Amino acid sequence: MTLEFLEAWFRRRDEPAFRARQVLDAVWRADSRDFDAISTLPSQTRVDLDRAFRWGTVADTELTLADGGRTEKALHRLDDGALIESVLMHYPAGPDRRERNTLCISSQAGCAVGCPFCATGELGFGRDLQTAEILDQVRSAARRLATRGRRLTNIVFMGMGEPLLNLDRVLESVAALNDPGRFGLGARHITVSTSGVVPGIRRLTALGPQFTLAVSLHAARDPLRDVLVPLNRRWPVAEVVAAAREHAATTGRRISYEVTMIEGVNDTELDADAMAVLLRGTLAHVNLIPMNPVAHTPWSASPMAAIERFAERLRRDGLPVTIRRNRGQEVGAACGQLAADRAGAPPVAAVARRRALLETSSAAALRGERSSEALPVGVDA
Ligand code: SF4
Repeated sequence: MTLEFLEAWFRRRDEPAFRARQVLDAVWRADSRDFDAISTLPSQTRVDLDRAFRWGTVADTELTLADGGRTEKALHRLDDGALIESVLMHYPAGPDRRERNTLCISSQAGCAVGCPFCATGELGFGRDLQTAEILDQVRSAARRLATRGRRLTNIVFMGMGEPLLNLDRVLESVAALNDPGRFGLGARHITVSTSGVVPGIRRLTALGPQFTLAVSLHAARDPLRDVLVPLNRRWPVAEVVAAAREHAATTGRRISYEVTMIEGVNDTELDADAMAVLLRGTLAHVNLIPMNPVAHTPWSASPMAAIERFAERLRRDGLPVTIRRNRGQEVGAACGQLAADRAGAPPVAAVARRRALLETSSAAALRGERSSEALPVGVDA
């Protein structure tokens, strides 16, 4: 809730509006647990707040640690039973950098885009998250960090879901995260990713810089991107990059392009050339990320040598490139893996059909052929 909303609530009850500030401070303080603990409020007000509002939207959170405790995966169960995931990554301070604690959060339960290298894509779409459900992932992580004397430094919307298909609520969430009277995290520390929802990118451009925009690119050629990011059939790669270029030019903020590296699929010389040509001269940074192992695909991560060759090709055209390390593989930290495990194994025949379709469509894409058959969303669709 916003301050204005809460102030109006108190005014209707003939209570002073400044109580709204006391409530919001407590809601966002990492050590508060419930309305009853807000000792600055009269006890009847605490009871009434508890009757009128929920303190949190997460019914239950299950935590799993990996990378020697530096990666913490949270599986959150919401009130209606929907499962969503967030991942907290700790990066210790080094000689030339400060400690970072980055939280990757979900914007939807499941996802309708259906990228075949992604466990969330295999689940299919559940529903949009409410603003509070997005923000409660942040409150949960901030509380856990506070007990270790740490605080969140970065938030990325790269968990389950396509943020720009739930844009109103994502924008409300970013406003709350940004607001010094609520979470108070600077816009430069927030990244929202999209698989290429062009109208959403244009809307963000019109709003001005709110956060760093990341584009999940994965391939620069349409025949291959049709396979890897099915939304490409609706908004082809040239349109996506044109909208992103305009966003960078208007806001002055560099676009982060994300590429999941899949062996023999999108790590070829042909693909590196195509990407260098597509992105050169743009205000961009490219992140190459080895694919996380995901059940039900025939693919695996590119070897490091192939990723380095790819990076070199992009650098020759003046593009800044970072090769990212995978985090939390032993706990299935790629988005949707835990929720997919809970959903149970899909039918064997459906998995075999999907694998065969992926193999033929990616082989056709390598030959430059654009398939007319779209991959169904969800393994057993
Ligand atoms: S990679 Fe992102 S957009 Fe694609 S299916 Fe997974 S969650 Fe959705």
